[in-house]
Amino acid sequence: MRILSLAHNIPKISPSFKSNTNDGAKGAAPVFATVETLDNTQISTIKKALDELEKVEFSPNDLIYVKNLGANPPFKNGAEAIQWLKESKAKILYADFSNPKVHACLNYDKDDGIAIFINSNYKDKCTHADILAISEAIFHECGHGKDYDSVNSIQEEFNCLSLNVLAHRFYKKKYQGVFNNQNSFLYSEGVSLYPKLFFDFHKTALKNRIAEKYGYLQTGDEKHPQSKFAQDIKHIYESATYI
Ligand SMILES: [Zn+2]
Repeated sequence: MRILSLAHNIPKISPSFKSNTNDGAKGAAPVFATVETLDNTQISTIKKALDELEKVEFSPNDLIYVKNLGANPPFKNGAEAIQWLKESKAKILYADFSNPKVHACLNYDKDDGIAIFINSNYKDKCTHADILAISEAIFHECGHGKDYDSVNSIQEEFNCLSLNVLAHRFYKKKYQGVFNNQNSFLYSEGVSLYPKLFFDFHKTALKNRIAEKYGYLQTGDEKHPQSKFAQDIKHIYESATYI
C-alpha cells in the first residue's frame, strides 16, 4: 500500500465517492475533498493502525450475530483486509472534506485506482484509542473497495459497518478500557456508536440510524443482495418525513 507521495498528484477529488452514489435525486449532497500531504506523524499513525488491523480476529459469536441480522462482512479478519490493501495498491491519505461529519471515504477510479481518505480533522490524533479508531475506519473503507466498483447500497454499507463493529469489539476485549472516556465526534458518532447500535440496543435504533445516513441509497446491488434488514431500512427511509 502506498501512503505518501501520491498525495501531490491528487489536488482535488471529484465527488465520485462511493458513499455518495445513489439511486435517485434524493441522495445526500456530494462530498468534495482536498487532499492533504502526510507528515511523519500521520504516516506513523496510519502504519500503526494497519499493524493493529492486521491482528483483528472476529469473535465467532459476534460473527454469527451480525450474520443473523443480515450483514455479510466482506473480510473474515483484519489480515484479509491488509492483503487486499496490498493487492489493490490502495492509497491511504488524509483529506479536507466539504462535509466535516464524514469520517472517511473511498474513491474508486478505474484509471487512478483506489484511494481511502481519512478526515483531516483526525490527522493529529495519535493516541492508542485514536489509532484503533482510524484502523476501524480504514477497515470499513476496505470493505467498500473490495468489490472494485463505485456502486453503493444500504446492504453494502450494512456489510461494511459490521466490519468496524466486529473490529471494535475485538479491540475492546484486547485492550480493556482503551475506549473509556473517548467522547469526541470520531467516537460518539462513529466507532463507539455502531457497536452499541448493533449489539446493545433494540434493532430499530440501528435501522433508524442507517436509514438516516444511507436510506437514500438503493437497497441492495448486484454484489450485495438485499437482506430483510436492508429492506426494513429502506422502508423506514421512505416512510420518514425527511424525504
Ligand atoms: Zn461506508
